[in-house]
Amino acid sequence: MTPTINIINEDKFVRALSGCSDKGFRIIDGKDFEILQYDTKPLDNYTPPPCFPDYCDFHNGIKVDTHEYFDKFPECCAKHKKLLQVNWFNKGKYEYIKTKIFDTVCYTQDCINKSIKNRSWYKEITDYIDYTIRSYGQLPIGYGPSPGIQIYYNSIESIISQAKGIPNNKKQKLLEYLDQEGTPSKHPSKNTDLNILIDTYKKWLSIFPFELPFFKNLKPYFSKHLPFIENISEPNLYDHLVRAKTVSKERLVKHLLDATIELITSINCSTQYTEGKLENISKLEIELILSSRNLELQALKYKTLDDRKQYTDVLKEWFNGEKKFIKEIAPHLSNIIPNTDWNKDGNSNPAINSHSADMISKVTTLLARYPKIQELYISANLKLNEGKYFRNILDDYRLVLELSMKAVLSSEKSMENQRPAINIFFSQKGKSVQHMNIFWQVIDFYCKYNNSNVKHNDAVNPSEIRFIVDQSNNCLIELLTA
Ligand SMILES: [Zn+2]
Ligand SMILES: [Zn+2]
Repeated sequence: MTPTINIINEDKFVRALSGCSDKGFRIIDGKDFEILQYDTKPLDNYTPPPCFPDYCDFHNGIKVDTHEYFDKFPECCAKHKKLLQVNWFNKGKYEYIKTKIFDTVCYTQDCINKSIKNRSWYKEITDYIDYTIRSYGQLPIGYGPSPGIQIYYNSIESIISQAKGIPNNKKQKLLEYLDQEGTPSKHPSKNTDLNILIDTYKKWLSIFPFELPFFKNLKPYFSKHLPFIENISEPNLYDHLVRAKTVSKERLVKHLLDATIELITSINCSTQYTEGKLENISKLEIELILSSRNLELQALKYKTLDDRKQYTDVLKEWFNGEKKFIKEIAPHLSNIIPNTDWNKDGNSNPAINSHSADMISKVTTLLARYPKIQELYISANLKLNEGKYFRNILDDYRLVLELSMKAVLSSEKSMENQRPAINIFFSQKGKSVQHMNIFWQVIDFYCKYNNSNVKHNDAVNPSEIRFIVDQSNNCLIELLTA
C-alpha cells in the first residue's frame, strides 16, 4: 500500500524535488505534508467479536466514544485546534474515523485471538498493530496525532489487559509494545536532525583521502551509502514495510572513526605491495604528499574540529607512516631493476633494453604475492645487472616461470606438462583458444630451448639472452595479470 501524500507547503516540496541536492539527499520535512489514511484488511476468514451483531457494552462504548470525539474534533485538544487556522483543513475529510476506529479495533481483536497461540505470536500481532497504526495516516508535524488513533490504542489496551485467554507474560509484552508505540509524547523521538547527520557524513567524505589511487573506486560506494540509518527491521508481515531509525550524531562519529581505521589498515601501500599492486612509486609518493597536505588544509578550514578531530588525527598519523614507508621501500624497488646502461663507460647491457626493464619492474611488483619466487627473481636480475652468469640467469628465469605456473595454476606438474592446467586457467579467465595456443607454443619452445641450451651445457649465446628474458617476462605478466 503506497499512502497518498498531501502537500501542505508546496514551495518547499518543489524545492526539495527539483535538484537542490547539494546535500546529496532530498529531505522533505514532516511539517510540509500530511499522509492520508487508507483502509486496512482484516486477516483471512475474519471473525467478528463474539457479541456480534448485538454489541456488548465495550464495543458499543467504542462507537459512542468515537462519535463524541468526532463531534468535538478538532477542538478536542490544543494541537488539533491549530487545524482550524489552516486553509487545507476540512473536517469532512476525517469523517472516515466514525467507522474506521470500530473496524480496526475488531480486526485487531480478531488477529490477537487467531495469533496468540502461534509460535510467532508477538511478531504477528505487533506487525498487525503497526500496520493498522500506519493506516491512520499522519498530520503535518505540530498538528497533533492522527485523528482517532488514541481511541484505537485505548481500546486495544483494554482488550489485551482484560482478555481471559492471554497468559500474563504475553499480556505484559503486548502492553509494553503499545505503551512504546502509542504514546509518542511519553517517548520523544531521539532522532537527530537528518541534516546534521548528512553534514557530518559529507565532511568525512571530503576529508577521507578517496583521491588516492587505491581508495578511488570506493568513493561511489561511500557516496551512496547511508551509515546513519540503523535498526532496520524485518519487513512487516502485512504491508511489507521496513522500519529504520537514524543514529545519534555520537554514534555516527564513532562509526566514521571505525570505518577510517578499517579502510586504512586494510588498504595501504604495504597491502598494495603484497598484492603486487604497488606500481609507479614516484607518482604515488607525490599523490600521498598532496593528499596529506590537503588533509592539513581541511583541518585548518574547520578550525573547530570537534567531532572530526578523532579520525583526522588517525589519518594524519597514517599519512606520516605511508610517506615513510614509500621513502624506505622506493630505493630497494629501483635497485632490483637492472640497469640498461651496463657500465659507466656507457656500453649498454646486451641482456636487456628499456622495454625489458619495464617488464622486470612490473613482474617484480606482481611477484610480491609469492615472496619466495620474488626473491629468486630478484637474484636473477641482480646477475643480469652484472652482465655475467648468463647460464645461471636463464636457469633462474626458467625456475621462476615454472614455480609461478605451479602457484597460479595450482598444479604441481613440471612446465612441460602444464598444458591442460593452462587451458583450464585461461578459459576460466575468458581467453580464446587461439590465445591459449600461442601461450602454449611459446612455453613449449621455451622448454625446448632451455633443454638443449641451458640444462645440459654452458654454451649460452649472450646475444640471445634479452630475447629469452623478454619471452619469460611476457609469459609471467600474462600469467600473473590474467
Ligand atoms: Zn463486544
Ligand atoms: Zn485532539
